[in-house]
Amino acid sequence: MPSLPRHLRRIGHVFVDESMIDAPMTHRVRERLAEGGRADIPWTVVPPDQDRVEFDRGETQALYLKEYKGKFLRFCPGTRAYHCCGYRIIHIGENCPMACSYCILQAYFQDRVLKIWANQDALFRELADGFGADRNTRYRVGTGEFTDSLALEHLTGYSRNLVEFLEDYDNVVLELKSKVVDLSWMEGATRTDRVLPAWSLNAPFINEHEEFDVSTLTERLEAARTCAEAGFRVCLHFDPIIRFDGWREGYAEIIDRIFDFVRPDQIAYMSLGSFRCMPQLNPIIEDRFPETNYIYNEFVPGLDGKVRLLRPLRVEQFKFMVDRLRKHGMEEQLYFCMESTGVWNEVFGYAPPDFGGLGKRLMARAFGE
Ligand code: SF4
Repeated sequence: MPSLPRHLRRIGHVFVDESMIDAPMTHRVRERLAEGGRADIPWTVVPPDQDRVEFDRGETQALYLKEYKGKFLRFCPGTRAYHCCGYRIIHIGENCPMACSYCILQAYFQDRVLKIWANQDALFRELADGFGADRNTRYRVGTGEFTDSLALEHLTGYSRNLVEFLEDYDNVVLELKSKVVDLSWMEGATRTDRVLPAWSLNAPFINEHEEFDVSTLTERLEAARTCAEAGFRVCLHFDPIIRFDGWREGYAEIIDRIFDFVRPDQIAYMSLGSFRCMPQLNPIIEDRFPETNYIYNEFVPGLDGKVRLLRPLRVEQFKFMVDRLRKHGMEEQLYFCMESTGVWNEVFGYAPPDFGGLGKRLMARAFGE
């Protein structure tokens, strides 16, 4: 009997909203758990409108198939003080079964329950109203903000459904950002120019010591190559860039390795973001990842309320990485996640106002212009 992918094997309980018992998503999750040899997992029905379920059983994880009543299409929570990329979020659920020490979701959400918005019909209605209202308005959207885009794909098929739904919307490009490999959504995609598969990368040392239950860097790059060979352009992201002993060698190694798998013209864009931390995240990291020590670097409060590495230290890392990426032929693909005009100028020698704004550039690149 096939078993579940490694990152889903800790799921040991399912909660379902009473109103979602007969939703297609609920049936699908039940079937796929059974196919993965987990028909034995207990299911608990909870009253509708219950915001949270109480579940704290150590390492065992819980899924919560929930009817979501809020807005599915949102703006990325950027800050006006920095150059934000203007990305829109399709909200499909919350939390992630993997465990990265630096994960901001640990501070965003009060529990670790893996929530799936099971009322997909409402989601698609809202998206149809939004994207269909004016077909000349273009959207660059993604699902990897409050969860990992593909982490639960094996059970939910959510990304595949979204890809199929968006085939009718020529004005939308969907980015699927992940740290695992699940390419089942490709079977639903006929428009290779409207989906951007994306993987986050990091230095091998960080991958080995700070990211757990994720796919290896080589697996992610192999997946990127598979997508590129199928005609998709891919996105790769370095976020968070972390300062640790040996960071130069580590980031040089992974940057060089990228181009054994994909060419610069197959990369739509690549973000660089330095580790940022909400004040409430620090004690969580200390508690859950006691071996982690990069949080004791020299940080200063930023204009967005998060602490970030001192500017000269950030700029030193950015310059090193951008120089190396430029040697491989990368330029217009590169951008910073949440940095100021000063940092852009210092590292790139230009800033978003010089090319008409970051959102505009990324929109054009997403649409292959
Ligand atoms: S894969 Fe992404 S969402 Fe999941 S734990 Fe790691 S950083 Fe968080």
